[in-house]
Amino acid sequence: MAKETHEFQAETRQLLDLMIHSIYTNHEIFLRELISNASDAIDKLHFESLTNQDILGDDKSFEIFLVPDAKGKTLSISDNGIGMNREELVENIGTIAKSGTKAFLEELKKAKESGQDVTDKDMIGQFGVGFYSAFMVAEKVTIFTKKAGESEAWRWESTADGSYTIEPAEKDRRGTTITIQLKKEFTGDEAEEDFTDTYKLQSLVKKYSDYVRYPIKMNFEVEETPKDENGKEIEGAEKIKRTEVRTLNSMQPLWTRNKSDIKEEEYTEFFKHQFHEWDKPMEIFHTKAEGTVEYTALLEIPAHAPFNLYQQDYEPGLQLYSRHVFIMDKCKDLLPDYLRFMKGLVDSPDLSLNISRELLQQSRELKAIGRALEKNILKSLARKLKNSREDYEKFWNEYGKSLKIGVYNSMYSGGDTIDKLKDLLLFMSSKDGKLVTLQEYVDRMPESQKKIFYATAKDKETIEQLPQMETLRDKGIEVLYLLDPVDEFAIESLRTYAEKPFHSISRGDLGLDDAESQEVKKETEDIQKKNDDLLKDIKEALGAKVSDVKVSSRLKSSAVCLVADEAGPSLSMEQTFADMKNPLFKAQRILEINPHHELFTKLQSLHSAGKDSQDFKDYCDLLYTQALLIEGILPENPVDFAGKVAKLMAK
Ligand code: ADP
Repeated sequence: MAKETHEFQAETRQLLDLMIHSIYTNHEIFLRELISNASDAIDKLHFESLTNQDILGDDKSFEIFLVPDAKGKTLSISDNGIGMNREELVENIGTIAKSGTKAFLEELKKAKESGQDVTDKDMIGQFGVGFYSAFMVAEKVTIFTKKAGESEAWRWESTADGSYTIEPAEKDRRGTTITIQLKKEFTGDEAEEDFTDTYKLQSLVKKYSDYVRYPIKMNFEVEETPKDENGKEIEGAEKIKRTEVRTLNSMQPLWTRNKSDIKEEEYTEFFKHQFHEWDKPMEIFHTKAEGTVEYTALLEIPAHAPFNLYQQDYEPGLQLYSRHVFIMDKCKDLLPDYLRFMKGLVDSPDLSLNISRELLQQSRELKAIGRALEKNILKSLARKLKNSREDYEKFWNEYGKSLKIGVYNSMYSGGDTIDKLKDLLLFMSSKDGKLVTLQEYVDRMPESQKKIFYATAKDKETIEQLPQMETLRDKGIEVLYLLDPVDEFAIESLRTYAEKPFHSISRGDLGLDDAESQEVKKETEDIQKKNDDLLKDIKEALGAKVSDVKVSSRLKSSAVCLVADEAGPSLSMEQTFADMKNPLFKAQRILEINPHHELFTKLQSLHSAGKDSQDFKDYCDLLYTQALLIEGILPENPVDFAGKVAKLMAK
């Protein structure tokens, strides 16, 4: 049969055109694509040989061979896989049939219709474009192929000018050799990327195809000094050159091995190598699932949280592999954001190599894998909390914030995140300064206590000195210490736990209903009524600084405190917003005064002497500023505050 010329199908031409003229910069992925095709071809033959042993003949060891030729400016990729006959060449290479390429063109059409630049590099980068990606680096591509079990071989060739040729050829070995005549930018010393450089090729194979199951081999020229019969180098002897075949990939990925055969150090080394860890992982998850979706996952909770875990530049996500071939780094769509600290990889034959990121994200398989992994991780955390409290607290100290942010964000993302996480939360307790779960808190609440109390400040000491703490401490009521700004936001999102509402000790009515509290409440109301004028005038003296002034039922030895309204942001939330340069949210400040403090009597007497006196006004102001300082908030005008204190001291 003579040489035939065929036209490429219109879509293929379009795709080729894009490959050649694209400004896409990640050229090197062509090698991954061709090696992956070679590995698939061997897979197919391997599969067929299971029922038809004869098909392998004498050529039983599968391999992929790279042959760079710097002089000839070519790179060949050979496999002894299934090969193609003439019909298959026309069908598989000349026309677009497979989902990946079709999806690519559909996306392309959509982009065109919406007026986008179709050579947008990102768009091309999102697709595994298989065989055609060779044209990013090739002037000409030649395929020699011989189908397993057949005697004829074929030579296919194209310069991507719209047509290709097919002619019979001579080939001894079955399988396919793809020879790329490299564009001048991709070979030689001047080239930016030299795809005939053995070391470059070696590193690309390590990077993208290390876990391909078949050996990827290449010849290396090595120079050696000859050795004597004892194996010692002969001094002064002229070096001899010889060719050595090396296998470039390690082939056996750790995660495909049996869990029971893997030593702890091997896991540790793996995470060090693959994910740049320093320490032994805090926890390792190695799971294999065979069901509706098949996958293997090898994940870790790193020993330490990276310093930028909560910063914008941190990129969460797992690596994705399909049949041990690397598809994607940092796939964010597997795990929810609150597990952003997880590292590792997922390898699944159900994920397609040639699929866009968008399609992958929507893939049912990916979602199913993600759900299963999330469940596993949460289960293991719950187990850790139950069985090994010390370890869990270590985890909590590194990553607790992630879970709390998760609870907070669930207000926006919806779903059942709160239910999943609420039992995993820990907060420091006033009881013993230790971390407690919400369940533990609720379990030891006295019957009469209807609310879960919490206090916010930057550290334990500050909270313990809060005037509001005194009464609660005396009554033996446990208070949760919220020391991280996100804590209060998380608690606000939870609203309740075991049907008990959360209540800040610096907010509204504490709602204590033991007999003593009821009595104090009644008494406070009485004093409030009797001192109505005084309180009104203090409020007037303070102007817009406070929304109300009240007699307090929550203070013992302190004179004043600031509390926030029942609704709206709290004082500490206001501080957080201010720190974020977002002063939009202001708490409604209520100044509470202890009616049993001697200062109250002093105020009463100053007031009766005249509400417009400077002394009364100064006292009101000092009172308010004190309350601010107790909350850790600086007065707006420290100089004025110091002046007033000095004046008072000099009296
Ligand atoms: P995909 O790999 O997604 O199918 P490609 O464009 O990479 O898309 O390849 C198209 C088809 O060409 C493959 O499906 C396969 O049938 C065939 N093919 C490519 N490379 C080889 C090879 N080395 N050996 C045998 N067949 C191959």
